[in-house]
Amino acid sequence: MRRWKVCFAVALSLLLILVSAGGLFAAPVNSYHRDLSVSNGIETGKTGMVVTAHPLASKVGADVLRKGGNAVDAAVAIQFALNVVEPMMSGIGGGGFMMVYDAKKKKVSIVDSRERAPMSAHPNMFLDEKGKEIPFDVRSHEGYAVGVPGTLKGLEVALCQWGTRPLAELINPAIHLAEKGIKVNRVLAKSIADNKEWLAQTSARELFIPHGQPLKEGEVLVQRDLADTFRLIKAKGTDAFYQGEIGKALVQEVNKRNGQMKLTDLRRYQVTMDQPLWGEIEGVQVATMPPPSSGGVTALYILKLLEQVKAKEQDLRSKEKYHLFVEAMHLAYADRGAYLGDPEFVEMPLKGMLDPRYIAERAALIDPDRVNTNVKPGNPWKYEDKSPAQVGALQDNENGQTTHFTVADRWGNLVSYTTTIEQEFGTAIMVPGYGFFLNNELTDFDAAPGGPNEVQPNKRPRSSMTPTILFQNGKPLMTVGSPGGSTIIASVYQVMFNKLSKGLDLKQAIEEPRIFSSQYPTVRWEEGVPDAVRAELEQMGHRFAEEPEVIGNVNAIWIDQKTGTYYGAGDSSRDSTAIGLDK
Ligand code: GLU
Repeated sequence: MRRWKVCFAVALSLLLILVSAGGLFAAPVNSYHRDLSVSNGIETGKTGMVVTAHPLASKVGADVLRKGGNAVDAAVAIQFALNVVEPMMSGIGGGGFMMVYDAKKKKVSIVDSRERAPMSAHPNMFLDEKGKEIPFDVRSHEGYAVGVPGTLKGLEVALCQWGTRPLAELINPAIHLAEKGIKVNRVLAKSIADNKEWLAQTSARELFIPHGQPLKEGEVLVQRDLADTFRLIKAKGTDAFYQGEIGKALVQEVNKRNGQMKLTDLRRYQVTMDQPLWGEIEGVQVATMPPPSSGGVTALYILKLLEQVKAKEQDLRSKEKYHLFVEAMHLAYADRGAYLGDPEFVEMPLKGMLDPRYIAERAALIDPDRVNTNVKPGNPWKYEDKSPAQVGALQDNENGQTTHFTVADRWGNLVSYTTTIEQEFGTAIMVPGYGFFLNNELTDFDAAPGGPNEVQPNKRPRSSMTPTILFQNGKPLMTVGSPGGSTIIASVYQVMFNKLSKGLDLKQAIEEPRIFSSQYPTVRWEEGVPDAVRAELEQMGHRFAEEPEVIGNVNAIWIDQKTGTYYGAGDSSRDSTAIGLDK
């Protein structure tokens, strides 16, 4: 189809939609370690910057910029490339949030390609005959966990809005990588090993566990089926997926594995074009992700609590700072569980949650010397003169992985894009003959019905993904985001705190050890939190997980407001690579 025809169809369909303001084979939480030798430091670039979790994907993006493409063109090529080089983290079988700063219009928008529940979905779908929750590891690998994928539609819409290159061109580097093969890196090797029992049960087996042995670091992964699928998309456009043979094969596989999806679910799928949620921290304007992600509002809420209790006066690795972090997270995550969901289905007290009076009321519950063992959701609705309609409970079993990348171009356009198939390898179901994995995003819904995040047909599960762009005096200052399920929020607010409140340089702000706790008592932590400090915190009543782990993978750009120079830095938790351009 010609480009204008595609864009016309996309525009028409956008007009019609609402614009929305441990078990069986459980993979260990501790998936990767930091390795500073594999990710570069801070890169600078005068005319462009790309930071992704994989050197080959960063190269693909940088090549697009070099050839005169813009940040959105580069982002589309990167997403296809990541589908090949990080097949366990994102791809056309998933969804995501692409935040774009359009420098000409000085406007931030989000292409929201979050997966949706098929029409057959219902609030009790994750309960067994006795009404008990089906264990997470079981329900997350079934066909009924698959949400209708949005990524490909999202890429198409983004190109129609901002792109200067056709999708059929931007998909080429990914076809090449899939066909030629890529070297399995430490991150992919670990994911394959951790998920081998699940992969062995689907058509992914031959590719990832050839001759019964999981692919190891340094071995070559060739993905011919995926290359053919991309060729089909290149030739026939996204219809090949949403109404054509790819979609038919997808639906067939989902239904073979206890799902109930129809081709009409794929046909009716639409992305939304969202407006960011705005806040202010340390005099910096923050454009962040609104619902259906809980990420933006929860990160702002935590940072505002921390401003109120003057956390920045505490030393970076002090007992006092970590205590304040944990207590603030508990208060914010309680409200996240109680009130947040898909805005097409639920009314949410976003204003109330960020109202200074409410923040002061909640901050008063933080005792600098005591652990609050009984945190409950508050009532932010009273600052909006309303009463709660639906209150959910904190249900937190989200240990997924995803990927976040960011691009800046010579015109000043920025992309901050978090993209996912939910858990590593999603459901581990690969569409036979088509070479891509299907998400298990529907497990981001609460398994128990009744709250704002219960399952409903066509609804989007609550996310934590938090692509963010910061501004000062109306000019862009920084992009940030991370994978990591509900820990995403912690990674994003901690990097912002390190940069804005503590003045660390970008790489230090990313590498500073992070902690995460959504409810009392367990605190997850990264290597580097001092042993003596942990012991003191344990004395106070906090309980630290036995082993450290890596929390998230933050890839970010800082912009020098005077010179416009870009500084890019990636996280050593994966092989993150920043590439700066000067010409
Ligand atoms: N499904 C998660 C979310 O939308 C993302 C998965 C992850 O980052 O691990 O919040």
